Amino acid sequence: MASQPVNVAELELPELEDALAERGKPRFHARQLYRWVYRRGLTDFELMTDLSRAMRTELRREFIVSTPRGVSEDRSLDGTRKFVLELADGRRIESVFIPDTPSMTFCISTQVGCAMSCGFCLTGKMGLLRNLTAGEIAGQVRVLAAATGLLDFPFNIVLMGMGEPLHNYDATLKALRILHSEHGLAISPRRITLSTVGIVPGLERLAREPLMPNLAISLHATTDEQRAKLVPPNKKYPLGDILEACRRFPLKKRSRITFEYVMLDGVNDTPEDARRLVRLLSGIKAKVNLIPLNPAPGIPYDRPSDARVDRFAQILADRHITVSVRKSRGQDIRAACGQLIVEGGTKKTAAQQMALLLN
Ligand code: SF4
Repeated sequence: MASQPVNVAELELPELEDALAERGKPRFHARQLYRWVYRRGLTDFELMTDLSRAMRTELRREFIVSTPRGVSEDRSLDGTRKFVLELADGRRIESVFIPDTPSMTFCISTQVGCAMSCGFCLTGKMGLLRNLTAGEIAGQVRVLAAATGLLDFPFNIVLMGMGEPLHNYDATLKALRILHSEHGLAISPRRITLSTVGIVPGLERLAREPLMPNLAISLHATTDEQRAKLVPPNKKYPLGDILEACRRFPLKKRSRITFEYVMLDGVNDTPEDARRLVRLLSGIKAKVNLIPLNPAPGIPYDRPSDARVDRFAQILADRHITVSVRKSRGQDIRAACGQLIVEGGTKKTAAQQMALLLN
């Protein structure tokens, strides 16, 4: 029986070198393959012209480069582009390109759906269908970089699409190592931000990683009672434990932890909340990103007025906390934060169907 082909997309460079060597091929071809796949965006071995014809034929027999397939793309008036990508098993995910923020940014998914069930998030309503593999996570970057013409240009990556990255820890970190390879896209960890609800054991592991992305914590509330309603994992990992892990988190010079705070009208946007937030963040090199909710059918919260948002931001700024208010991008194509949910995909769960019906 013929053995399964080796999927180049799932391998870090040393693993690819080993896979080639095990099949009697020179290890240095791994670097060539990485350059073609990641820098040139090619997956057809036949087009890799610095490999001999015989080698290309052998590679076609024994190797594949699995790549998420673009199914559809929506373009927002503000330049944001939302891509629906189909994986080898027919599952679908979404990835978003956000231009000029001020850099070019790709918002990438780490899971199909999400198990965290945040109360203001459409993806959370899908439930978790499965984890993405490292190749599927890194593959989104390849697809978006090629589609946007950015293979040769710098861009940022935020792990803020579908899924909780620390709930799929190994695949996420492996994807970052693949993307970091100097023979591939060579993306610096300084250009990558991992956003988490605060899975404390994951934060502690991350603190020991040699390749460490920027960290963003989805905080969204200032008391455990309030946060447990909005971000259910808070029942297991309460605010005190998360913030303690943040205090211990090793930060590079001049870097800070970003605290994301989705503002919900009349729920978590009072001056008392702002003052509590100041106290919670004491002793942490922090910046706060306020995100007025993008209202959506099926989400039982409203967006606060600009005046409420400004007052909240002013209280933080007065206490010398760096604060920004996120301008919502791609609202007209539902590519904004917490609005990623795949429509028309196969194998929907009951929760997914409900979320779709509500939209
Ligand atoms: S906000 Fe993030 S962590 Fe929460 S349910 Fe949505 S995708 Fe998951």
